[in-house]
Amino acid sequence: MLDFLKSARPRRLRIVRNGHPALRQKSSPIKEVTAEVRRLAARMVVTMQENDVVGVGLAAPQVGVNVRLIVVDTSPDEDSPPPTEPLSPGEASLNPRMPLALVNPEITWVSPETSCCGEGCLSLPGVRGEVTRPARVRLNATTLDGEAIDVECGGLLARCLQHEIDHLDGVLFIDRAPDEQQKAAAPLLKRMEKNELKQLAKR
Ligand SMILES: [Zn+2]
Repeated sequence: MLDFLKSARPRRLRIVRNGHPALRQKSSPIKEVTAEVRRLAARMVVTMQENDVVGVGLAAPQVGVNVRLIVVDTSPDEDSPPPTEPLSPGEASLNPRMPLALVNPEITWVSPETSCCGEGCLSLPGVRGEVTRPARVRLNATTLDGEAIDVECGGLLARCLQHEIDHLDGVLFIDRAPDEQQKAAAPLLKRMEKNELKQLAKR
């Protein structure tokens, strides 16, 4: 558990939607974990948890900030069925520490085996797509306290990390879905873009 959650609960942030320019930019590395970065991470955790749909991850561009910071919580609920496969080293070591903020996360290796799974995104409400990704990845990152993480991750954590790190490079899951699913989602994405640009113009 992150320390800040024990004190006053930070305020949630607005999640930007398809059409917001922050979702299509490459985000900058974080050079130093300042109080501002910690505050942002805290607010991102609350934003991830307090959404109508509870997210398993959130990337800073989704709250309109183009820095390389993500928060993840893919730990199983108390009432989830027990895992059918042994946990990967990443899930075993990181699940108990979730929600977890990762600074400058990178995928340094991907497995040749892939898995296909339906994905959604808090920035693309109502849009779903089947995305094929490497089944296991090696994660390199640091925590807010400067601890280096270098671990192989599988399962939902591997998928979530790839989805969130894609956000830091301006890539959305729907870009990786089959053409026909992209086409089917296009009208909804277009409407979302129009609304998002209208919102932006008001600010
Ligand atoms: Zn997303």
